[in-house]
Amino acid sequence: MQKSIDEIRKDFPILNQKVYGKPLVYLDNGATSQKPLLVINAEKEIYETINSNIHRGVHFLSGEMTNAYENARTTIQKFINAKFSEEIIFTKGATDSINLVAFSFGEQFVNEGDEIIVTEMEHHANIVPWQMLCQRKKAILKVLPISDEGELIISKLDNLITSKTRLLAATHTSNVLGTINPVKEIIEKAHKQNVPVLIDGSQAILHSKIDVIDLNADFYVFSGHKMYAPTGIGILYGKKELLEKIPPYQGGGDMVDNVSFEKTTYAELPFKFEAGTSNFVGAVALAKASEYIESIGFEFIKKQETELLNYATEKMQTVKGLKIYGTSKKKCSIISFLVENIHAYDMGLMLDKMGIAVRTGSHCAQPLMKRFGIEGTIRASFSFYNTKDEIDSLIQGIERIRKMFND
Ligand code: PLP
Repeated sequence: MQKSIDEIRKDFPILNQKVYGKPLVYLDNGATSQKPLLVINAEKEIYETINSNIHRGVHFLSGEMTNAYENARTTIQKFINAKFSEEIIFTKGATDSINLVAFSFGEQFVNEGDEIIVTEMEHHANIVPWQMLCQRKKAILKVLPISDEGELIISKLDNLITSKTRLLAATHTSNVLGTINPVKEIIEKAHKQNVPVLIDGSQAILHSKIDVIDLNADFYVFSGHKMYAPTGIGILYGKKELLEKIPPYQGGGDMVDNVSFEKTTYAELPFKFEAGTSNFVGAVALAKASEYIESIGFEFIKKQETELLNYATEKMQTVKGLKIYGTSKKKCSIISFLVENIHAYDMGLMLDKMGIAVRTGSHCAQPLMKRFGIEGTIRASFSFYNTKDEIDSLIQGIERIRKMFND
């Protein structure tokens, strides 16, 4: 039986509180999502029962913890429909995953004069690691532009990709504009010219079912904390044949087969990319979060979030002087906006005093801000646990602030 929103909200204890004496309205889900009890309790239970370092122990607890960790890998494999469990690498998060690929793939396949393509709407996490790689290898970073609506201009891709292009890195969903990119089409286009593609799924993984086989993505990355799991854990999915070809990112325990001062050999996948003690408790909690999402169901999530997005968009359009950035036809439940004569930061601070949590600033996407000729925006991002009443509070808050500044 589908839970009601009231029941769902009870799964997230943090939502039921007051800040500054006002009911909390949490609309900063794009930055990080709140955690259901199932996830919170999973971590607590591990520390109370089987906590022990994985892979290296001969004792009972270590075996139990190793099993739980490896089962978590299989759960995530199924969650994104990967072919093999060893294609799932546990990392610290999306940023860590992208840095891993930028280093390892870059070491193996990128040379002087080669090209990497990113898009104009990327988070800094999907720009800077590629820039660092380009600096290291004297390679060239190229940028796929976007339209005024905040959609990628896919037709420009054909000219952008050349025989020198080694990889294309694009976000599945923009953390600022909410745009859902046609990544399957992009991947198809790139593959026609033998260019592998990394998809940053940080803002996509929580909104709809991801099927990496159907997408045919070469790499797909995301962070746990944005999908109702703890911080400090994330995923790098990579096609097995590619992961096998690229060298390890970090050296240390767990990623080796045999170590001597003369020569070290590396462990098989996925351990080759998991140096040191990983966040094994977080990995199990991440798997629990994926089970929680599936228990709510993507169909319900999509329906609820689309309703919230449409409701908020309609209401915002009635606010005098309010401009929405990102008007793509396909959007997830993220709205970036500005109100005439009001600095984003002032709006954010004043909404906060009303108990409403939104994010303000460049959202780690300064090149995108430059594209629109602005310094920053206010961003409201909705989860399926948000309500229309909360959106009403947001709109009332914006109206009050607008009147203070403009009337
Ligand atoms: N990519 C996108 C689209 C994001 O929204 C974020 C976080 O806001 C990241 C990457 C980086 O995620 P993390 O800081 O969890 O590594």
